[in-house]
Amino acid sequence: MVDPVAIDALHAAATYLMLVTGAAAFVALQWLYAPYGRYSRGGWWGPLINAKVAWMVWESPALLIPAYMLAASPGLLPALLADPLSKRSLMAAAFLAHYVYRAIVFPLRTRSGKPAPLSIVLLGMTFCVWNGLLQGWHIVHQVPADARATPAVAAGLALWAVGWLGVMRADAALAALRKPGETGYKIPRGGLFEYVSAANYCSEMVEWAGYALAGWSLPTAAFAFFTACNLLPRGVRHHAWYLAKFEEYPKARRAVVPFLW
Ligand code: NDP
Repeated sequence: MVDPVAIDALHAAATYLMLVTGAAAFVALQWLYAPYGRYSRGGWWGPLINAKVAWMVWESPALLIPAYMLAASPGLLPALLADPLSKRSLMAAAFLAHYVYRAIVFPLRTRSGKPAPLSIVLLGMTFCVWNGLLQGWHIVHQVPADARATPAVAAGLALWAVGWLGVMRADAALAALRKPGETGYKIPRGGLFEYVSAANYCSEMVEWAGYALAGWSLPTAAFAFFTACNLLPRGVRHHAWYLAKFEEYPKARRAVVPFLW
């Protein structure tokens, strides 16, 4: 028999660990970078795995674990469906919608993404198992069943939606830069790319900041914090890479945060 109090304590520890790991990753990523995408490397990072397969494998736990937790909790799914505008239903829908996109739609749409080494696939998967358990438990057991969609929740989810649409738009714009079979890089243009090199990362940070605002809880804030700690340094590296690669790269463009960073 699972003791919910013990799991809550474990859950709190895993949440604090995400905050600490995010801060440590932010520091480490000033010098290091994950060798996937344009920085992809094999060698001691392990054998290279097709990008579509890699993304599906490492992102799937963040979809499957919360979906299983929702489905396995007696009476929960009918309750959520019967009250679709409760805070819990909306947060579950937002989280799952993102991961249906990230684990299935995004990999299928990717154009000739560089293969990723096995160690990065395993690292990404570990994070998605961790975060899937964290957010899944939070939605199922910690968001009160009777919590309503207050104006703060609605504002957070509106921000989440702006970020999510921005992510999908930026991902699609990057995919459209390549014709089938092409593997090179071009200067992204249009929309948020006119302001930042990593419009996808900027939107992803907005998305999870909105989710954290809606959740107003440590687990949702920890995920938003970790995302920013991971994506800010990588976006800065992408920006420097573009400036070094393309002489004609727009000089006014920032890395991740318009006008600032
Ligand atoms: P990148 O921007 O590095 O690459 C995304 C895709 O676009 C890849 O297929 C890449 O190809 C291609 N691409 C990128 N730039 C160009 C260009 N200039 N010309 C042509 N093709 C290009 O993003 P990531 O792969 O790091 O991330 C993908 C998504 O996942 C993003 O939406 C990101 O926000 C999200 N993400 C979220 C994280 C989180 O912590 N929540 C962590 C990491 C990513 P190639 O592989 O060949 O470089």
